[in-house]
Amino acid sequence: MTEHDSHGLKDMNELVSLCKRRGFVFPSSEVYGGINACWDYGPLGIELKRNVKERWWRAMTDRDDVEGLDAAILMHPRVWEASGHVAGFVDPLVDCKKCKSRFRADKLDPGVLESKKCPSCGGELTEPRQFNLMFRTFMGPVEDSASVVYLRPETAQGIYVNFLNVQQSSRQKIPFGIAQIGKAFRNEITPGNFIFRTREFEQMEMQYFVKPGTDMEWFEKWKAIRIQWHLDNGIRPSKLRFHQHGPGELAHYAKAAFDIEYEFPFGWQELEGIHNRTDFDLSRHQEFSGKKLEYFDEESKERFVPYIVETSAGCDRSLLVILADAYRFDGERTWLTLHPSMAPYKIAIFPLMKKPELLEFSNRVYEDVRKQFRSTTDAAGSIGKRYRRQDEIGTPFGVTIDYDTLSNQTVTVRHRDSMAQERISAEKLGSYVADKFQSWGK
Ligand code: ATP
Repeated sequence: MTEHDSHGLKDMNELVSLCKRRGFVFPSSEVYGGINACWDYGPLGIELKRNVKERWWRAMTDRDDVEGLDAAILMHPRVWEASGHVAGFVDPLVDCKKCKSRFRADKLDPGVLESKKCPSCGGELTEPRQFNLMFRTFMGPVEDSASVVYLRPETAQGIYVNFLNVQQSSRQKIPFGIAQIGKAFRNEITPGNFIFRTREFEQMEMQYFVKPGTDMEWFEKWKAIRIQWHLDNGIRPSKLRFHQHGPGELAHYAKAAFDIEYEFPFGWQELEGIHNRTDFDLSRHQEFSGKKLEYFDEESKERFVPYIVETSAGCDRSLLVILADAYRFDGERTWLTLHPSMAPYKIAIFPLMKKPELLEFSNRVYEDVRKQFRSTTDAAGSIGKRYRRQDEIGTPFGVTIDYDTLSNQTVTVRHRDSMAQERISAEKLGSYVADKFQSWGK
């Protein structure tokens, strides 16, 4: 274990409290006592989230073979019959008759289920009953069965039903993919672990359409691309692994499935799924809609229903991994070793004291660097406290302007992780930071 690992996150509550204190994530509707498992992103949380999405979007769509899409959350109810969600998107739920705790039967120890005793209080458990995870609502003023619609439980279906629209309008040839970021909703029985499992969350999904027979080759390629993306976010390699779905775990539509897992303080858990979904989705939508969803290959003159390789990542969960992995506490100092591409602020500018001549120089430096990097400035309190505040939000560099700055135009740059300080020419600050970011982690 390295020194940094031993300073890593042990208890999620430490992170929950830092997130609240520094404005990353707040409990939703807090003034009303909060609402279970709903969270709001604060000023720094939304910056971090935008960075996560931006990196994902660039990684996915800065390729000639992937197009973007933003489909509606509310879709035709038949979509969810075709997808299998109306019949099959269910979890088995058991209740404790005494303490009213709820459990997912598939997550309980088989011995507990057999004994029918509540693991919390020893009370009697009910028989498992199937519970559909989709949120239902009504479209229009009449609340009858004909107007039932669902909040989408995944973004993928919006991509499948637009397959031909995107392919024809963008003139893509197979293989090609469609990427989408958007909200999804699941009425989870056991949400929790902060933003790990919530009922409203964002997904970052990409569906890649391939010729049958080439699917396993693409599946392997996307597995490699996707784990690299998490590594490039600065996640420690020792905390990431693949988990292959065994025959019992494999979803009805999948030919092969791997999860990318992260080791949280509460154990190894799924962060992203990579699935070979075969032609299940497009075939089902053909069947239910009566519309052909085939591809015609001009070269070989073949007509076929493409196979789909899916990469499905949680945006909030990726963000949680980034925060959890970056968290450090050495008994005195708390800091986030965020990768610069993720840090809400890249540079913090500090005038040593609130003296007009220092403030004036400091503002000039600040206005200059913020053209290039998202930056912040802070003139209040002791310099040590100001450093600590930035450490806690993961700002890679602190820059101090003091009286020497006025005489020789140099500034002190402090490194967040090592706390090392160097003096450099104020003029070179932008290029100095750009160089450091370029070679970060190398
Ligand atoms: P589980 O079995 O843990 O409920 P799942 O296998 O159904 O999850 P997928 O349907 O594969 O999950 O969803 C893809 C990704 O979406 C997950 O890897 C995760 O990052 C994210 N995700 C799914 N459900 C939630 C949720 N309730 N809260 C936050 N993120 C979620």
